[in-house]
Amino acid sequence: MPNAHATRPIKRSSPQPTQRIVQAITEAIAERRLMPGTKLTEAKLCEIFDVSRTLVRQALNQLSRDHLVTLEPARGAFVAKPTTEEAQQVFAVRTMLETMIVRALCKSITPAQIKLLKAHLAAETRSIVNNDIAERTRLLGEFHAVLASIHGNLVLSEILSDLLLRSSLIALMYQSSQSAEESHAEHELLVKALEDGNTALATRLMKQHLHHVERNLKLETQTTDLKAVLSQSLSDLAR
Ligand SMILES: [Zn+2]
Repeated sequence: MPNAHATRPIKRSSPQPTQRIVQAITEAIAERRLMPGTKLTEAKLCEIFDVSRTLVRQALNQLSRDHLVTLEPARGAFVAKPTTEEAQQVFAVRTMLETMIVRALCKSITPAQIKLLKAHLAAETRSIVNNDIAERTRLLGEFHAVLASIHGNLVLSEILSDLLLRSSLIALMYQSSQSAEESHAEHELLVKALEDGNTALATRLMKQHLHHVERNLKLETQTTDLKAVLSQSLSDLAR
Protein backbone atom coordinates (compact mmCIF):
# COMPACT_ATOMS: atom_id res chain seq x y z
CA MET A 1 0.00 0.00 0.00
CA PRO A 2 1.51 3.34 -0.95
CA ASN A 3 1.42 6.16 1.56
CA ALA A 4 -1.02 9.04 1.39
CA HIS A 5 1.06 10.82 -1.24
CA ALA A 6 -0.26 8.65 -3.98
CA THR A 7 0.62 10.99 -6.80
CA ARG A 8 4.06 9.66 -7.57
CA PRO A 9 6.81 12.09 -8.41
CA ILE A 10 8.04 11.63 -11.96
CA LYS A 11 11.79 11.35 -11.67
CA ARG A 12 14.24 12.06 -14.46
CA SER A 13 16.75 9.26 -13.99
CA SER A 14 16.40 5.56 -13.21
CA PRO A 15 18.84 2.68 -13.73
CA GLN A 16 16.25 -0.06 -14.45
CA PRO A 17 15.34 -0.54 -18.13
CA THR A 18 11.71 -1.31 -17.23
CA GLN A 19 11.51 1.88 -15.16
CA ARG A 20 13.11 3.83 -17.98
CA ILE A 21 10.30 2.78 -20.34
CA VAL A 22 7.59 3.38 -17.70
CA GLN A 23 9.05 6.82 -17.03
CA ALA A 24 9.31 7.84 -20.68
CA ILE A 25 5.73 6.81 -21.42
CA THR A 26 4.39 8.43 -18.21
CA GLU A 27 6.17 11.68 -19.06
CA ALA A 28 4.95 11.61 -22.65
CA ILE A 29 1.39 11.28 -21.35
CA ALA A 30 1.89 13.90 -18.62
CA GLU A 31 3.25 16.37 -21.15
CA ARG A 32 0.40 15.57 -23.54
CA ARG A 33 2.67 14.22 -26.28
CA LEU A 34 0.99 10.80 -26.07
CA MET A 35 -2.77 11.00 -26.17
CA PRO A 36 -5.40 8.61 -24.78
CA GLY A 37 -6.20 5.74 -27.11
CA THR A 38 -2.75 5.69 -28.79
CA LYS A 39 -1.65 2.15 -29.61
CA LEU A 40 1.63 1.14 -27.94
CA THR A 41 3.04 -1.46 -30.32
CA GLU A 42 5.41 -3.88 -28.56
CA ALA A 43 7.73 -4.25 -31.55
CA LYS A 44 8.02 -0.49 -31.97
CA LEU A 45 8.73 0.00 -28.25
CA CYS A 46 11.47 -2.67 -28.41
CA GLU A 47 13.05 -0.78 -31.29
CA ILE A 48 12.68 2.68 -29.74
CA PHE A 49 14.08 1.66 -26.33
CA ASP A 50 16.46 -0.99 -27.72
CA VAL A 51 15.32 -3.64 -25.24
CA SER A 52 13.76 -7.12 -25.29
CA ARG A 53 10.06 -7.82 -25.61
CA THR A 54 10.08 -9.17 -22.02
CA LEU A 55 11.15 -5.79 -20.64
CA VAL A 56 8.60 -3.97 -22.77
CA ARG A 57 5.86 -6.29 -21.48
CA GLN A 58 6.97 -5.73 -17.86
CA ALA A 59 6.76 -1.98 -18.40
CA LEU A 60 3.33 -2.23 -20.03
CA ASN A 61 2.08 -4.40 -17.15
CA GLN A 62 3.25 -1.84 -14.62
CA LEU A 63 1.61 0.99 -16.56
CA SER A 64 -1.57 -1.08 -16.70
CA ARG A 65 -1.55 -1.51 -12.91
CA ASP A 66 -1.19 2.27 -12.63
CA HIS A 67 -4.29 2.68 -14.89
CA LEU A 68 -2.17 4.55 -17.48
CA VAL A 69 -2.29 1.79 -20.07
CA THR A 70 -5.06 -0.61 -21.08
CA LEU A 71 -4.08 -4.12 -22.17
CA GLU A 72 -6.60 -5.62 -24.59
CA PRO A 73 -6.44 -9.34 -25.45
CA ALA A 74 -5.41 -9.91 -29.09
CA ARG A 75 -5.31 -6.14 -29.73
CA GLY A 76 -2.37 -5.05 -27.59
CA ALA A 77 -1.60 -2.08 -25.36
CA PHE A 78 -3.17 1.37 -25.59
CA VAL A 79 -2.78 4.58 -23.63
CA ALA A 80 -5.70 4.41 -21.19
CA LYS A 81 -8.81 6.29 -22.05
CA PRO A 82 -10.90 6.53 -18.90
CA THR A 83 -14.59 6.88 -19.63
CA THR A 84 -16.61 9.80 -18.33
CA GLU A 85 -18.60 7.31 -16.21
CA GLU A 86 -15.37 6.13 -14.57
CA ALA A 87 -14.30 9.70 -13.85
CA GLN A 88 -17.75 10.59 -12.48
CA GLN A 89 -17.72 7.60 -10.13
CA VAL A 90 -14.24 8.43 -8.85
CA PHE A 91 -15.25 12.05 -8.24
CA ALA A 92 -18.55 11.12 -6.58
CA VAL A 93 -16.74 9.01 -3.97
CA ARG A 94 -14.03 11.63 -3.54
CA THR A 95 -16.65 14.33 -2.91
CA MET A 96 -18.21 12.24 -0.12
CA LEU A 97 -14.88 11.49 1.56
CA GLU A 98 -13.23 14.86 1.10
CA THR A 99 -16.14 16.99 2.33
CA MET A 100 -16.13 14.75 5.40
CA ILE A 101 -12.39 15.39 5.86
CA VAL A 102 -12.80 19.16 5.46
CA ARG A 103 -15.71 19.27 7.92
CA ALA A 104 -13.65 17.47 10.56
CA LEU A 105 -10.56 19.57 9.88
CA CYS A 106 -12.40 22.84 10.49
CA LYS A 107 -12.72 21.80 14.12
CA SER A 108 -9.30 20.23 14.64
CA ILE A 109 -6.74 21.98 12.41
CA THR A 110 -3.67 23.42 14.15
CA PRO A 111 -1.49 26.44 13.20
CA ALA A 112 1.34 24.02 12.29
CA GLN A 113 -0.96 22.18 9.90
CA ILE A 114 -2.08 25.46 8.30
CA LYS A 115 1.60 26.32 7.83
CA LEU A 116 2.18 22.96 6.12
CA LEU A 117 -0.75 23.58 3.74
CA LYS A 118 0.52 27.09 2.95
CA ALA A 119 3.98 25.72 2.13
CA HIS A 120 2.30 23.29 -0.24
CA LEU A 121 0.36 26.15 -1.87
CA ALA A 122 3.64 28.05 -2.37
CA ALA A 123 5.11 25.02 -4.16
CA GLU A 124 2.01 24.87 -6.38
CA THR A 125 2.48 28.54 -7.27
CA ARG A 126 6.13 27.95 -8.24
CA SER A 127 5.28 25.00 -10.50
CA ILE A 128 2.55 27.04 -12.24
CA VAL A 129 4.85 30.05 -12.75
CA ASN A 130 7.56 27.74 -14.13
CA ASN A 131 4.99 26.00 -16.35
CA ASP A 132 6.29 22.66 -15.07
CA ILE A 133 3.35 20.50 -16.16
CA ALA A 134 4.39 17.21 -14.55
CA GLU A 135 5.29 18.85 -11.21
CA ARG A 136 2.19 21.05 -11.24
CA THR A 137 -0.12 18.09 -11.86
CA ARG A 138 1.60 16.10 -9.11
CA LEU A 139 1.35 18.93 -6.55
CA LEU A 140 -2.29 19.70 -7.36
CA GLY A 141 -3.18 16.07 -6.69
CA GLU A 142 -0.95 15.86 -3.63
CA PHE A 143 -2.76 18.79 -1.99
CA HIS A 144 -5.68 16.42 -1.40
CA ALA A 145 -3.39 13.72 -0.02
CA VAL A 146 -1.90 16.26 2.40
CA LEU A 147 -5.41 17.18 3.64
CA ALA A 148 -6.21 13.49 4.17
CA SER A 149 -2.95 12.85 6.03
CA ILE A 150 -3.55 15.86 8.33
CA HIS A 151 -7.01 14.51 9.10
CA GLY A 152 -5.30 11.53 10.73
CA ASN A 153 -7.68 8.65 9.87
CA LEU A 154 -5.32 6.14 8.24
CA VAL A 155 -8.06 3.97 6.74
CA LEU A 156 -9.62 7.00 5.09
CA SER A 157 -6.18 8.14 3.89
CA GLU A 158 -5.55 4.77 2.28
CA ILE A 159 -8.90 4.63 0.50
CA LEU A 160 -8.45 8.18 -0.70
CA SER A 161 -4.88 7.57 -1.90
CA ASP A 162 -6.16 4.93 -4.35
CA LEU A 163 -8.81 7.33 -5.64
CA LEU A 164 -6.27 10.15 -5.89
CA LEU A 165 -3.88 8.03 -7.91
CA ARG A 166 -6.68 7.25 -10.33
CA SER A 167 -7.88 10.81 -10.62
CA SER A 168 -4.39 12.27 -10.85
CA LEU A 169 -3.69 9.95 -13.78
CA ILE A 170 -6.94 11.11 -15.38
CA ALA A 171 -5.87 14.70 -14.69
CA LEU A 172 -2.39 14.05 -16.12
CA MET A 173 -4.06 13.19 -19.38
CA TYR A 174 -6.85 15.72 -19.53
CA GLN A 175 -6.05 18.79 -17.44
CA SER A 176 -5.44 22.06 -19.24
CA SER A 177 -3.19 24.79 -17.86
CA GLN A 178 -6.26 26.98 -17.37
CA SER A 179 -7.91 24.42 -15.10
CA ALA A 180 -4.64 23.96 -13.18
CA GLU A 181 -4.62 27.66 -12.31
CA GLU A 182 -8.27 27.50 -11.33
CA SER A 183 -7.58 24.49 -9.10
CA HIS A 184 -4.71 26.28 -7.39
CA ALA A 185 -6.86 29.37 -6.71
CA GLU A 186 -9.55 27.14 -5.21
CA HIS A 187 -6.99 25.38 -2.99
CA GLU A 188 -6.02 28.81 -1.63
CA LEU A 189 -9.64 29.72 -0.83
CA LEU A 190 -10.14 26.36 0.86
CA VAL A 191 -7.07 26.76 3.09
CA LYS A 192 -8.33 30.24 4.07
CA ALA A 193 -11.74 28.79 5.04
CA LEU A 194 -10.02 26.05 7.07
CA GLU A 195 -7.87 28.66 8.80
CA ASP A 196 -11.02 30.65 9.65
CA GLY A 197 -12.74 27.47 10.88
CA ASN A 198 -15.66 28.22 8.54
CA THR A 199 -17.16 24.73 8.17
CA ALA A 200 -20.06 25.65 5.87
CA LEU A 201 -17.80 27.58 3.48
CA ALA A 202 -14.99 24.99 3.52
CA THR A 203 -17.29 22.06 2.70
CA ARG A 204 -19.03 24.07 -0.02
CA LEU A 205 -15.65 25.07 -1.54
CA MET A 206 -14.44 21.45 -1.56
CA LYS A 207 -17.64 20.27 -3.23
CA GLN A 208 -17.42 23.03 -5.86
CA HIS A 209 -13.71 22.42 -6.41
CA LEU A 210 -14.12 18.70 -7.13
CA HIS A 211 -17.06 19.51 -9.39
CA HIS A 212 -14.86 21.98 -11.34
CA VAL A 213 -11.95 19.53 -11.59
CA GLU A 214 -14.32 16.92 -12.99
CA ARG A 215 -15.94 19.42 -15.36
CA ASN A 216 -12.54 20.46 -16.74
CA LEU A 217 -11.52 16.99 -17.85
CA LYS A 218 -11.01 17.16 -21.57
CA LEU A 219 -11.62 13.93 -23.39
CA GLU A 220 -9.97 14.15 -26.78
CA THR A 221 -8.38 11.70 -29.17
CA GLN A 222 -5.66 12.26 -31.70
CA THR A 223 -3.22 10.02 -33.49
CA THR A 224 0.41 10.23 -32.52
CA ASP A 225 3.74 9.36 -34.09
CA LEU A 226 4.95 6.98 -31.38
CA LYS A 227 8.59 7.04 -32.44
CA ALA A 228 8.83 10.83 -32.54
CA VAL A 229 7.38 11.44 -29.06
CA LEU A 230 9.24 8.64 -27.28
CA SER A 231 12.58 9.46 -28.94
CA GLN A 232 12.07 12.92 -27.44
CA SER A 233 11.62 11.37 -23.99
CA LEU A 234 14.75 9.28 -24.44
CA SER A 235 16.88 12.25 -25.38
CA ASP A 236 15.48 14.11 -22.33
CA LEU A 237 16.50 11.21 -20.10
CA ALA A 238 19.99 11.14 -21.56
CA ARG A 239 20.60 14.76 -20.57
ZN1 LIG B 1 -7.58 20.13 -5.94
